[in-house]
Amino acid sequence: MHIYFDNASTTPMHPEVLSNMYDVLAQDFGNPSSIHWHGRKAKSLIEQSRKSVAKALNASIGEIFFTSCATEATNMILKMAVEDLGVRRIISSPTEHHCVLHTLDYLKSKNLCDIVYLQVDQEGHIQEEALINLLENDDTKTLVSLMHGNNEIGTMHDITRIGQICHEHGALYHCDAVQTIGKYAIDVQKSNINFLTGSGHKFHGPKGIGFVFISNDNIISPYILGGAQERNMRAGTENIAGITGIAKALELATSDMDKNHQYVTSLRERFKSLLNQHIHDVRYNGDQNNSFMAHVLNVSFPPSLHADLLVMNLDIEGISTSSGSACSSGIEEDSHVLQAIGHPTERKAIRFSFSPNNTLEEVAYTIEVLKRLLA
Ligand code: PLP
Repeated sequence: MHIYFDNASTTPMHPEVLSNMYDVLAQDFGNPSSIHWHGRKAKSLIEQSRKSVAKALNASIGEIFFTSCATEATNMILKMAVEDLGVRRIISSPTEHHCVLHTLDYLKSKNLCDIVYLQVDQEGHIQEEALINLLENDDTKTLVSLMHGNNEIGTMHDITRIGQICHEHGALYHCDAVQTIGKYAIDVQKSNINFLTGSGHKFHGPKGIGFVFISNDNIISPYILGGAQERNMRAGTENIAGITGIAKALELATSDMDKNHQYVTSLRERFKSLLNQHIHDVRYNGDQNNSFMAHVLNVSFPPSLHADLLVMNLDIEGISTSSGSACSSGIEEDSHVLQAIGHPTERKAIRFSFSPNNTLEEVAYTIEVLKRLLA
């Protein structure tokens, strides 16, 4: 038996997405830049997909650009906002994904921009007041980059409130919505979002395809140079199957959003209640009461030799999970997110992340295995 509880890392493809992509790969091989029938057919698939992604976010068709992944899209936004839009300060938080943080390190190392990090509390929330203060006390052209849902601990930021604050203070807002697209309703207009980034493989679509939303009034120049693809914004012959795959996956996720949310919440609740019943001194990282993503459960186990080896031993038992640590110079350390929320280093954090493909039986089985491994 193999159980997959690492859905925040990536998700299995939806069978309908797979069959749709198979047809495209088999039949629609034309180069979308060619003017003949084969090219036009491929081009029209891309444009239908763009329309569908735009609709899911309440964006205009011309505001969606396909990229190879969210990492590329994030690099594009942060670097080009500095280069083209006169951004001289970026406000972010230490719990952002490395695709944001490492791009900010780069911009700082080249002296291209000031970077300011908001502190987060023990649940991973920023303080709204701190953001307002920063924006009120300095009129440097600013971009705020704050994610929707945290991939490690599941805490969600109130993006509509952040968007409103940015809007009121003339700052641009980039939202990394990689973990929430297809799981939570996002309206880029209502939330005053200027830039939003997403990745197909997080919502049962293919890997190697992502997209960026760029609001119409923030024209940046292309990050990857070459041909005129993506209306001159992202050169390179398009990944047609990936583009149709991401659009199909988003359509399916959006239409089943409420049902999936309810089901995944029930898995999470059962998992937590069984852990509380059977495992001594478990704690949870991230917000557990108000704003959290249903698919992420970050568990903090008390210190023990068994806990240290848990991710490996779960893997041996056929259960895939993820540890909240990174190995640097042979020493395991808590990840940057766990460090930012002050997770006690002696405890062991493990992320269990769910999808509608998981079952209550898998939850029960995993708890039995945990009981045995931690005994
Ligand atoms: N942002 C968040 C919150 C993520 O979880 C991830 C992937 O783990 C990314 C960005 C980057 O996505 P990709 O690796 O598909 O570029």
